[in-house]
Amino acid sequence: MTGKFVRVRCKKCRNEQVIFQKAATRVSCLVCGETLAEPKGGKAEIKAKVLEILK
Ligand SMILES: [Zn+2]
Repeated sequence: MTGKFVRVRCKKCRNEQVIFQKAATRVSCLVCGETLAEPKGGKAEIKAKVLEILK
């Protein structure tokens, strides 16, 4: 089972951050603390804007 990394932009402060698509824990923006992704059924639900899917 492989996951991908995605580059997202925080909707609140526009910080760009790379997060794991299948994050098992909640991922917060490093700048403002906004939730970027939270785990849901083995896959992260991404709350931020996805800019790019990295390979
Ligand atoms: Zn932010």
